[in-house]
Amino acid sequence: MPQCPVCNSAVSLETTPTVPFCSDRCRLIDLGRWLEEGYSVPHVARDDDEEGEEGLVELPGFGFDEDGDEG
Ligand SMILES: [Zn+2]
Repeated sequence: MPQCPVCNSAVSLETTPTVPFCSDRCRLIDLGRWLEEGYSVPHVARDDDEEGEEGLVELPGFGFDEDGDEG
């Protein structure tokens, strides 16, 4: 008899609709783990290039704060 990969309890292939998990709860737990692994994938490094407006120079003390938080 196979075992639930989450809680290692015995799983009946015939009577358990959530095979290979012993229960729907364990199935969700395993799904959550998969999602967490997906989130941990590093993002693709993005070039810090700004297209257009090449002639525009940034004036010091202009008063703009792009990193400022709104609200
Ligand atoms: Zn389980």
